[in-house]
Amino acid sequence: MQIMHKTAVLISFCMAFCLITAFSYAQSGTSKDYPIQPVSFTKVKLTDNFWAPRIKLNHDVTIPIALQQCYITGRVENFKIAGKLTKGKFQSEYPFDDSDIYKIIEGASYSLQTNPDPYLEKRIDTLIYYIGLAQEPDGYLYTNRTIDSLHMHPWVGKKRWENDPVLSHELYNLGHLYEAAYAHFLATGKRTLLNIAIKSANLVDHDFGPGKLSYYPGHQVIEMGLAKLYRITNEEKYLKLSKFFLDCRRGGSEYNQANKPVIEQDKIVGHAVRATYMYSGMADVSALTGEVAYKNAIDKIWEDLLKTKYYITGGIGSGGDNEGFGAPYYLPNMSAYNETCASISNVMWNFRMFLLEGDSKFYDVLERTLYNSLLSGISLSADHFFYPNPLESQGQHSRSTWFGCACCPSNICRFIPSMPGYVYAQKGDDLFVNLFVNSTANIVLNGKKVVLDQKTDYPWNGKVEFTLKPEKAGKFNLMIRIPGWAQDQAVPTDLYHFSKKSTNPVTLTVNGKAYQYILKNGYAQVEGNWKSGDKVILDLPMPVREIVANEKVKADIGKVALQRGPLVYCAEWPDNKDGHVLNLLLNQNSSFTTEFRPQLLNGVTVIKSEVTSASWTKDNKIQESKGELVAIPYFAWANRGAGEMSVWLANQKSASKPLPAPTIAYTSKISASTKSKALMALNDQVEPENSNDHNVIYYHWWPKKNSLEWIQYDFAKAEKVSSSKVYWFDDGPFGGCRVPASWRILYKDANGSWIPVKNITGYGVDKDKRNEVKFEPVETAALKMEIQLPKDNASGMYEWSVK
Ligand SMILES: [Zn+2]
Repeated sequence: MQIMHKTAVLISFCMAFCLITAFSYAQSGTSKDYPIQPVSFTKVKLTDNFWAPRIKLNHDVTIPIALQQCYITGRVENFKIAGKLTKGKFQSEYPFDDSDIYKIIEGASYSLQTNPDPYLEKRIDTLIYYIGLAQEPDGYLYTNRTIDSLHMHPWVGKKRWENDPVLSHELYNLGHLYEAAYAHFLATGKRTLLNIAIKSANLVDHDFGPGKLSYYPGHQVIEMGLAKLYRITNEEKYLKLSKFFLDCRRGGSEYNQANKPVIEQDKIVGHAVRATYMYSGMADVSALTGEVAYKNAIDKIWEDLLKTKYYITGGIGSGGDNEGFGAPYYLPNMSAYNETCASISNVMWNFRMFLLEGDSKFYDVLERTLYNSLLSGISLSADHFFYPNPLESQGQHSRSTWFGCACCPSNICRFIPSMPGYVYAQKGDDLFVNLFVNSTANIVLNGKKVVLDQKTDYPWNGKVEFTLKPEKAGKFNLMIRIPGWAQDQAVPTDLYHFSKKSTNPVTLTVNGKAYQYILKNGYAQVEGNWKSGDKVILDLPMPVREIVANEKVKADIGKVALQRGPLVYCAEWPDNKDGHVLNLLLNQNSSFTTEFRPQLLNGVTVIKSEVTSASWTKDNKIQESKGELVAIPYFAWANRGAGEMSVWLANQKSASKPLPAPTIAYTSKISASTKSKALMALNDQVEPENSNDHNVIYYHWWPKKNSLEWIQYDFAKAEKVSSSKVYWFDDGPFGGCRVPASWRILYKDANGSWIPVKNITGYGVDKDKRNEVKFEPVETAALKMEIQLPKDNASGMYEWSVK
């Protein structure tokens, strides 16, 4: 209590200091920085029905949940034990768990600006007190080692830092600490966390650098954190250290972008979050040092992303095996990884690219990711989270309340309340309007005070009314972003395009009169000698647009995606016939209508169209029926239970997937020795390309091995059966699953006993095909398959059919 009291007394002094610092940073601050400066989130008050309620829910629900989880899972306890307040072993699962606390403090700091909350402030002060105690006298901060240096996590090296290039995450944790310290200081004026961060950074600077340790961080983020510490302290050594951590990357793998010097990199590769945190750091260092080599490299990397590896939802990172980028144009939908953290870091990166170069294309990407893939990461109730954000589902996906590796929820905590900071930016007399949101902003532009109101119902309606209220009449330029989607450009490359040209032009009026604007880097330059009450009205027409992917994207051939304004849509099971959407076929020349439904998913505009549903009959024919498609914004999917969902919808027969035929297997009830949603794979009649096809759902027993497992089909009625086919999953010598050691089929007799069938052919274990077994006919209501797992592996399967 004593400590709290002293802190409280210090606030008023620090607050005054902080405001001066925060104010002068944008004006002069460090000698070099981004040519365009953001308008701080503290200057923009959102009054809309879309973002403001999300920021409030993040404050009221997400941050408290994250804090509670950090207490339950031992993340907080780790700091208390390291600080010798209590005794015990390292409590949580991973050595990077410290970072979740830092990210929550960062989020809470932002959030306290819009939602003053003395209780939350106290909880944050308590955490900072624990962090301070856990810091070793020389500044080292890493609870896993401090708690017990003899019994550390297997990822941690015996010596400090030595395993950081691999997995210890010592520097990663500190990157998040510095980011949190920056936000906490700016938001509250308290130096408590900043002092801890400075002490830590001084140690890192003491240990790393030319002639000292030359390891590169295994998981980037400290580069951005150090840039922020430099901005706030003006200590050049932090900037140099940030640059050093970038420049020493080489001789490693693509996974963490250490395959070659960063300034020579030109392709987007490896782990998506590591990559985009690093590019953000490169943008920071480029801005702060004026060194263009970093900028040139990230320009090329950005082109590569937008040309070959960007999902239409704005998600990035197609593969789960490396949580990152795959081959060019490899953009599978159901197995799309698109980690929530990667959406957040992609927003951070594109934000910096804009500040560096002033081109609206970066905001087009930012907006697409923000409104679609990023928002999908959290439920409408703000208490369930997605780690991957796929573009298609058979019903195997649902959000979780928390994860063992909790990077995504804690990243949501810090991102959502920072959103107002992305709306405006400024450079001299130019005021950039980047996002459209009902709000009031207080901006100081070249020494002139301006209040700017936006009245809009975006993203549901593209009309935006700006009211300018300069303190004194004067000249300046409104630079209003005209989104690519409003100018017939789905993305700034040929990866996706709209199927038809729009016939509705963008219009702009100034005080009621049409204004012919010039487009400058994608911004409508609206010059004026503005006086209070002047009005600028922008109208961005929002027809429903069909998007077609580049033909090199195999997964999207014969399909279209729907977009209206910045929102990408999906068809989801509750709104469509019999709960199915994967079997829908749009007309080649579809017409669309829209309707705002205030009761649906907190109020969304739906898209409707005529559609054909297809299904296989028992005798291998396709049966079709006409019906209505109802599509919802992608961000709002998976809020009504698990079921089918698809962003890409077939509009060519070759791409449509008729519903499975009502076979014995399809109408059976499935049970198994290991319960899993993936059991739905066994009778979905979706054939994989081979036994290691991750784009098709499969069932497996991993991490079990050497055990006897079973799967059972209870038929809808008694059937006479005499053969069965099974397609094995096998992900090779480096995977966890191989074909089984052996297997057999049993049937249930009239007494309910399981009797092995008398097989006529062998029980095959061939890969890449269906293995058929024929047996003497039996009349039964249930079949069971027994599978003996290999000695050192699990097994799995895609399909099990019965005839
Ligand atoms: Zn994550």
